[in-house]
Amino acid sequence: MRLTSSLRFHRQNNKTFLRIFMILVLSCIPGRTNLCSNHSDTRSSLDSLDLEGYITFDDVHNASKDFGNRYQFPPLAILHPKSVSDISTVVRHILHLGSTSNLTVAARGHGHSLQGQALAHQGVVINMESLPSHDGIKIYKGTQPYVDVSGGELWINILRETLKHGLSPKSWTDYLHLTVGGTLSNAGISGQAFKHGPQINNVYQLEIVTGKGEAVTCSKKLNPELFHSVLGGLGQFGIITRARISLGPAPHMVKWIRVLYSNFSTFSRDQEHLISKKKGFDFVEGSVTINRTDLLNNWRSSFTPNDSTEASQFKSDGKTLYCLEVVKYFNKEEANSMNQETEKLLSELSYIPSTLFSSVVPYIEFLDRVHLGEIKLRAKGLWEVPHPWLNLLVPKSSIFEFATEVFNNILTSNNNGPILIYPVNQSK
Ligand SMILES: Cc1cc2nc3c(=O)[nH]c(=O)nc-3n(C[C@H](O)[C@H](O)[C@H](O)COP(=O)(O)OP(=O)(O)OC[C@H]3O[C@@H](n4cnc5c(N)ncnc54)[C@H](O)[C@@H]3O)c2cc1C
Repeated sequence: MRLTSSLRFHRQNNKTFLRIFMILVLSCIPGRTNLCSNHSDTRSSLDSLDLEGYITFDDVHNASKDFGNRYQFPPLAILHPKSVSDISTVVRHILHLGSTSNLTVAARGHGHSLQGQALAHQGVVINMESLPSHDGIKIYKGTQPYVDVSGGELWINILRETLKHGLSPKSWTDYLHLTVGGTLSNAGISGQAFKHGPQINNVYQLEIVTGKGEAVTCSKKLNPELFHSVLGGLGQFGIITRARISLGPAPHMVKWIRVLYSNFSTFSRDQEHLISKKKGFDFVEGSVTINRTDLLNNWRSSFTPNDSTEASQFKSDGKTLYCLEVVKYFNKEEANSMNQETEKLLSELSYIPSTLFSSVVPYIEFLDRVHLGEIKLRAKGLWEVPHPWLNLLVPKSSIFEFATEVFNNILTSNNNGPILIYPVNQSK
């Protein structure tokens, strides 16, 4: 199996980390020198495998790049599996070819990695999205409800299916058009992580094809070492063919609030205050705006251009501003108590009063919010541009120094994309 470059999480004694997501130009290019010494022999040996799905050798362009769009590494072949046994067969075959073939394997979910993690230069890419769930997306109700899904399933489809039963996964990414296997190989972090942990903390069981081509079931109790290695394992410890994900009750609606700060310490203190509360908001994120006048034109913005509230008239005058984004879930009959709780929580914060903006939207609309940005960017031809993005977990002890240097001294603007910044509890 191949190796990839990776980000590692630091373990320190601070209670919280701030997850920072930034647009940066990275200098590291993943080394992919695994060229097969004898392509035609390898190709015909792969071609002769007895599969329910199929292997393509010609139409490999789509699997030669990812959302990061900074590297082109064409594979030798793409496997489109129709069963777990197809994946086992191919992995076992490559193992038997031995190290002289230099053939690498990469599972590919939706290909939304940023730095070539789902590419296999002259190797075999496994297109996980063609692996069907056994009986579709299977939901189990009860005291601890869960859903069983294929590793190649998109989170947006899981949300749509579970909502039909009044249920939903608890922890999300900001963008839902990503696969289960893709985000569980990383962490899956969004504004719910402070409360429920990242997505990898909300998995009961996995079915894995190991590097030997064996299909193995694992959980905290069954093959726990494999279970904990694969979750957040960057695709290096096995291929996730199936996952059992914990569910909770789904709210109908959300109250979605944004407020601005001009001072990082106040912003950061308020964010940490909110994630320390037992009964607070259900989602806490934030972003940084540097030297921008078109504050409301942000591609991730929930503000609408026609909005006439005081918040929409706020002028940033090019200052560095910090936006706190919070959400409270509720069902229609709970609107009054939700409003009271929200007012109380807001009264504990020190944002710029004239910048309060709120809206009420259906739960699914809120969760799928980045997709609206995608549609707008696609229409302008701006979705498939290079994305030099970076995710960092910075310990609480260094965050003030980090923010001062980076937001005030290094970056001169963020006109080309979002900078998200928000705290997560280490205990989750
Ligand atoms: C617009 C956008 C917004 C994003 N927002 C967030 C966010 O809010 N929070 C967050 O945490 N991340 C976010 N991400 C990052 C995203 O979660 C990761 O890039 C994720 O890996 C992409 O999933 P994918 O299905 O496209 O995986 P791919 O890019 O196809 O694969 C990612 C990695 O997982 C491996 N892999 C894929 N499928 C499997 C499998 N079944 N078994 C084993 N390994 C597998 C691949 O080999 C590769 O190493 C965002 C990405 C984009 C493009």
